Amino acid sequence: MKVARTLPELHEARRALLAGHGGVALVPTMGALHDGHLTLVREAVRTGHATVASIFVNPTQFGAHEDFGRYPRTEEEDLAGLEAAGCALAWLPDVSVMYPANDATLVEVGGPSRFWENIQRPGHFRGVATVCAKLFSQTRADFAFFGEKDWQQLQVIRRMVQDLHLHVRIVGVPTVRDTDGLALSSRNRFLSGEERERAPLLHGALTRLAARLAAGSAAAGLLDQASAELTGKGLPPDYLALVDGTSLEPIASARSGCRLIAAVRIGSVRLLDNVAVG
Ligand code: AMP
Repeated sequence: MKVARTLPELHEARRALLAGHGGVALVPTMGALHDGHLTLVREAVRTGHATVASIFVNPTQFGAHEDFGRYPRTEEEDLAGLEAAGCALAWLPDVSVMYPANDATLVEVGGPSRFWENIQRPGHFRGVATVCAKLFSQTRADFAFFGEKDWQQLQVIRRMVQDLHLHVRIVGVPTVRDTDGLALSSRNRFLSGEERERAPLLHGALTRLAARLAAGSAAAGLLDQASAELTGKGLPPDYLALVDGTSLEPIASARSGCRLIAAVRIGSVRLLDNVAVG
């Protein structure tokens, strides 16, 4: 596996790789890789295109009081994991490569950006969209793989690609979970032992709720009840909502393609999760 840290290194490595492959399959990450990320990489490898994984802890998607400084950085293990998963090229730009001093462009996506995470983290999706647009362009990706774990993010990226007519095909990959249902996340390492035991309650609540919604029950009462139960168990939701799976707008009852999404707090960690309904 090649490692590139500057744009000239990236372009040189990309040229060499493309000699043996049809195109580029990109997996954008912030590192601290777990099996969820590596599943994306394995899916990208399966396309037969040259797999490029980026590791970049993107400062513009963190709010002023968020955990940019303490975000886990585990480069050596990450590179070993990527190589074992069949990645051809690791792209590790630093902040001055991604955002040179005179950088003055941000990508603002409307539509699905407007709700949920955006209320909790204003400007978050602007940072995500900007860095993804740069990554697509830097790597000239033909495909880019994203986890369904971050459902709203996946829809924001799809919207941006559609609206800007970008030549990249976005592929969503189902959430990888621990055996007890907890969605893998780089931030799970910050859970205490006791919090880790309680954390799967979120996925349990979502799956039970999804079954009742799929049976035709109205959302409002069920969502209020589930929120109260989660709060009672020490997982107060920032939001818990039934939404249209593409627009992210809240809906009153289940319909085709809808999604149940949630973010809850547990100790110093926010857990994000979502499930299909029906
Ligand atoms: P991150 O490093 O958290 O920015 O995540 C990089 C990519 O991995 C994003 O597309 C995430 O949605 C995806 N991802 C993170 N956790 C999981 C998971 N448990 N299952 C599947 N994809 C995931």
